[in-house]
Amino acid sequence: MQDDKKLNILSLFPEEMDLSPAYRRKQVFSWLHQHTVQSFDEMTNLSKALRAELAERYALDLPRETERQASADGTQKILWRLTDGEMVETALMRYKHGVSVCLSTQAGCRMGCAFCASGAHGFSRDLSAGEMVSQALYCGESVNHVVLMGTGEPLDNFEQTVRFIRLISHPEGRGLSPRHISLSTCGNVPGILKLADSGLPVTLSVSLHAPDDETRSRLMPMNRKYPISMLMEACGKYFMKTGRRISYEYVIINGLNDSPGHARRLKALLRGKPAHINIIPCNPVAGKPFAPPGADAARRFMRELDGLRVTARRTLGSDIDAACGQLRSRKC
Ligand code: SAH
Repeated sequence: MQDDKKLNILSLFPEEMDLSPAYRRKQVFSWLHQHTVQSFDEMTNLSKALRAELAERYALDLPRETERQASADGTQKILWRLTDGEMVETALMRYKHGVSVCLSTQAGCRMGCAFCASGAHGFSRDLSAGEMVSQALYCGESVNHVVLMGTGEPLDNFEQTVRFIRLISHPEGRGLSPRHISLSTCGNVPGILKLADSGLPVTLSVSLHAPDDETRSRLMPMNRKYPISMLMEACGKYFMKTGRRISYEYVIINGLNDSPGHARRLKALLRGKPAHINIIPCNPVAGKPFAPPGADAARRFMRELDGLRVTARRTLGSDIDAACGQLRSRKC
């Protein structure tokens, strides 16, 4: 019972640890963030008495890896059981420039995007910053990039997500540059503005998926609250504050948002803006009627966007349900 009340030390900055003198706090932080120890007892440059004191005061809440699947393309998917029994997933992707970890920020999701598997089983709870730290650091790989694109809406769990970004970029710990972190949102406008004010130069990735309110509201309930004009204004402010070009994700879905008209409206919307567009073929999700367009339609769509900065995202891990929108659909 008492354990429940203890703070998870992985959610804390060194300066928040109740420990003196100050260099001890740095040692503990480094054991966790650089050496990824599994227990206080492994902190061998601390006295036994001090380790016992730490264990008395704090919990080291590590999620338990219950399953790891490997895709033919090298992508891995880890299923974790959190200390309260919630299950979350993390994906590891290998690129030429290193390893990217795709983290979940919530158990479940309440955004209700029509084509996404993440919210299919509802929303359970926000993850703590420490639970995000453990997905990134205790996944068995040295990661070079973090993408907040797993289950959940990071800006719906703003405080813990920003705390996570500050923890993982802390110079006494992993020291990952915020420039190597991408945060994806379905269009939470107040969250985007708050993130701009936080001064963290992370790459903002916006799940746009449609160039007009009619189509977008049909696919993404968030658009009914914050329509495209408000979203674009917030993105403009994000760029003004951070100088970071925005990345727009566009999942093409057969017959829904893939017509030449959609492509032309998308071009008109983003032309001249500091934008990068990522076209993603819709991944099939069990029980949903959405499918990617055929190769010809996809090519035609891309051709219409000529003149914009566009890339087509490689789909990694789809044979193990680790591709976009597929996490957490089977086990929960
Ligand atoms: N809630 C945030 C973070 C999730 S990121 C957001 O919406 O951006 C996951 C990305 O995968 C989002 O761009 C999401 O729209 C996309 N996605 C969801 N379902 C998908 C599917 N079936 N096929 C391809 N991409 C999908």
